[in-house]
Amino acid sequence: MQDYPASWWAASSRHACDFAALREDIETHVAVIGAGFTGLSAAHHLCELGLRCVVLEANRIGWGASGRNGGIAVPRYKFTYPELEDKYGEATALLMYRAAHDAVDSLERIVRQHGLDCGFVRSGHLTPVVSASDVARFIADVEWLASRVHDTAPRMLDAAEASRRIGTAFYSAAYHEPRGGVIHPLEYCITLANALYAAGVRIHCGTPATRWQVEGDGVVVHTPNGRVRAKQLVIASNAYSDLTPAGKPLEKRVVPVASAVIATEPLPPDLRESLLPGGEAATDAKRLTNYYRVLRDGSFFFGGRGGASSRASQRIYDRLRRDMVAIFPQLASVAVRHQWFGLVAMTLDTLPHVGSLDARVHYGMGYNGRGVALSALFGRLLANRVAGHAPAVGPMSSGRFEPIPFHALRVPAKQVAITWKQLVDALGV
Ligand SMILES: Cc1cc2nc3c(=O)[nH]c(=O)nc-3n(C[C@H](O)[C@H](O)[C@H](O)COP(=O)(O)OP(=O)(O)OC[C@H]3O[C@@H](n4cnc5c(N)ncnc54)[C@H](O)[C@@H]3O)c2cc1C
Repeated sequence: MQDYPASWWAASSRHACDFAALREDIETHVAVIGAGFTGLSAAHHLCELGLRCVVLEANRIGWGASGRNGGIAVPRYKFTYPELEDKYGEATALLMYRAAHDAVDSLERIVRQHGLDCGFVRSGHLTPVVSASDVARFIADVEWLASRVHDTAPRMLDAAEASRRIGTAFYSAAYHEPRGGVIHPLEYCITLANALYAAGVRIHCGTPATRWQVEGDGVVVHTPNGRVRAKQLVIASNAYSDLTPAGKPLEKRVVPVASAVIATEPLPPDLRESLLPGGEAATDAKRLTNYYRVLRDGSFFFGGRGGASSRASQRIYDRLRRDMVAIFPQLASVAVRHQWFGLVAMTLDTLPHVGSLDARVHYGMGYNGRGVALSALFGRLLANRVAGHAPAVGPMSSGRFEPIPFHALRVPAKQVAITWKQLVDALGV
C-alpha cells in the first residue's frame, strides 16, 4: 500500500481515517473499486438507494488524483457552450449545461448532508484568458448563456478588472463564474469515507482488486486475501486503471497525464491580499493550463501540466515555479514548501464517460482535469445504473469510449502535443 505523496493537502489535513485490508470472503450487493471522489460518491448514492456496498482501495482513501488535486469545482467543461452546441447540437449543449451545474450542486449536497468539514465554499471561479481568440470564445459563451438559458451570472471582466481580481497584469481578460467552489480535496475524501463507514459501508484500504469475473448472476472480485461476491461492480479507478489487471478493460480508454503542483510557504499578509483578494480559484484558458488559489494558511497553490511522462521530475517543478513567477512576479522570492504530482485521465473527446461493460459492471472516468464536481454527479449516475436506470448525459453517456488506437505510443505522442501547445502559447496565437 502506498502512502500519500508529500502534498500540502496531506500536511494540512485535520482529519484521518484507518480502514483495514480485506482478509475474508464476503458478499454484498455492489463492489466498488477505487476510493477516490468517484468511488466514494458512488458509495454515498448507493447507500441512499438502500444498497449495501463494499469499497476496495489499493492504497489509502483519496490516494489517487482525488487527494492531490486543486479542489476547484467548476460548472463548466473544457469546451465553451457554443462549442458544445456546434459539436453536439443545442439540445445536448443544454443537457450538458444542466449536468455541469448539477455536478457542483451534487458535491455541495454530499458535503452538507454529511456535514463534511472539508473547507467547501462557493468561492466563485475565474478563467483568465490571454489570447484574443480565447477572449472571443468566452464572450460568446456569456452571450450563449444569456440567450439560451437566461443565465446572466457569468460575466466577462476586462483587463483592468481581471488584473484587480487576480493580482497580475498577465491576462487580457477573465471569465467569472460566481457558482464555482473550492474544497480541501483530501479532507473531503477522508471525511466522506468516515461518514460512509459510520452509515454502514464497508471500506478496505491496502486492498487492490487484482481481477474480477462475471460468475452466475453476479461478479466475483479477487483481492490478495479475500474475495468479494457482488451482484454488481462499479470501477472507479480513473487514471490509475493500470494498477492491476482489474482495470484492463478500461486502461486503454484513457491517457494518464501527469499534472504537477507546487505550494509556497505561507505568504505575508500584504502579498497574500494582492492575490485573488475576492477568494476565487482560477483555471486559466492557456492551452497548457495553470490553476491556482490561495490556501487557508496563506500559501499559494499553483498547478500545471506535469510533462510528457506519467511522473514529474525536478525540472518540471522548476519550470512550474518559473511559470508562476512569470504570471505573479511578486512571488519571485517566495520559497516553495511542497511539490507533488498526480495523474489526470484524458480522453479523445476531452469529456468524461459513464457506462457499462456488461449489465453488471459499470464505470465512470476520464474527467480531463475537471473531476472535482463531475465525479460527484458521476457517482450518482453510477448508482442509478446499478439500480437499473441510465440517465442520459449526452456524449458523456452515449459517446464513443473505445480503447485508444496506438495507446502504447501515448508518451511520445503526448510529448509532441505538449511541445506544440507550449509553442502556440508562447506565440500567443
Ligand atoms: C494534480 C491534479 C490537479 C487537479 N485539479 C483539479 C481541479 O482543481 N479541479 C477538478 O475538477 N479536477 C482536478 N483534477 C482532476 C480530479 O482530481 C480527478 O478528476 C478526480 O480526482 C478523479 O477522481 P476518481 O475517484 O475518478 O479517481 P482517483 O482519485 O484517481 O481514484 C482512483 C483510485 O482507484 C484506486 N485503484 C486503482 N486501481 C485499483 C484496483 N485495482 N483496486 C483497488 N483500487 C484501485 C487508486 O489507488 C485510486 O485511489 C486534478 C487532477 C490532478 C492529478
